[in-house]
Amino acid sequence: MLEPSVQYRSVIRLTETRDIQSVNTTFLDILNSVIHGRFVLYVLQGIGRENRFVLSSEVNPFGPDAESILALFNPKAETRPSLPKDLRPFPLASVNGLHAVLIVDRKAQIQDEVFLNFIITVYCNQFNLVEACSYDALTGLMNRGEFDKKLYQLLDNHGQSNRRNEAVNSCLALLDVDHFKQINDRFGHLYGDEVLLLLGQQLPKVFREDDWLFRYGGEEFAIILRGVTEDQCEAILERARSAIEAYCFPQVGKVTVSIGYTYVDQIETSSGLISQADAALYYAKSNGRNQVQRYQALIDQGALEKGSEVVGDIDLF
Ligand code: GH3
Ligand code: MG
Ligand code: MG
Repeated sequence: MLEPSVQYRSVIRLTETRDIQSVNTTFLDILNSVIHGRFVLYVLQGIGRENRFVLSSEVNPFGPDAESILALFNPKAETRPSLPKDLRPFPLASVNGLHAVLIVDRKAQIQDEVFLNFIITVYCNQFNLVEACSYDALTGLMNRGEFDKKLYQLLDNHGQSNRRNEAVNSCLALLDVDHFKQINDRFGHLYGDEVLLLLGQQLPKVFREDDWLFRYGGEEFAIILRGVTEDQCEAILERARSAIEAYCFPQVGKVTVSIGYTYVDQIETSSGLISQADAALYYAKSNGRNQVQRYQALIDQGALEKGSEVVGDIDLF
């Protein structure tokens, strides 16, 4: 049996976590003190959790890929693989369904089985709580609070050179649905909501798993791309714009989006970056919508003034 003081400390550590990544890494740490031997933790990401999962352990010691591990517990999966007999699976579920799978080698020694089951329950509850606070319920994307946290983290660590590189080669984009009010007015709010929900499903398909997507507010989304060149940003965002244009929304039909973005080529404040992306978005809206505009290009062309002032005779309201 684990020392009661170790058990209490584990519960305190787990319930102190405030983001999904810390919930998972703290849980992994605790598992390491209870399980002596091989194990792996698969975690599915996001409320939609459509095959978006991360392997929380550094390496997968067992071989079966994450897809087949997931299929093991998915009643709708077409083929159900069977797990080798020497592996013991623990499906971990929260209110939105299965969110993680722990697989333990049967040869591993579990120091305290009762505590393991108990801490799994605490982990699931904490995961649930943190997920509800971090994700937008309608779109399944990260919410505004997470956006503020993630952008701050990205820029705040610029004292460390590896972090500076990550922040400097990143891109902040704001995406806004064109004429969304008309969609609500013509089809009703339920269809408006459906468009937002479908955008929450379609957008992750266009981006890589480590790009960050957020519902910024209303019908506006924020995207943070890391480790990209300027040319890549343009191509990725243009791909997103045209994918949405090509998608057929049930009943509503065609929906377009405008995107304004800024490439982070030097350290800026988060509010500075947001107002740059916003100025580019505003420009896209004022110049025909359904387009991608880059803040730096607009400055170079003289269409915008540094400090996000709009130059020229553009009707903004
Ligand atoms: P623009 O092309 O200039 O962006 O025009 P727009 O109509 O999209 O912009 P506007 O800001 O005038 O209207 C946004 C509308 O989005 C108004 C608001 O009622 C609606 N909206 C915001 N959040 C939600 C939501 O969660 N569900 C629904 N159905 N509508 C929402
Ligand atoms: Mg809009
Ligand atoms: Mg808007």
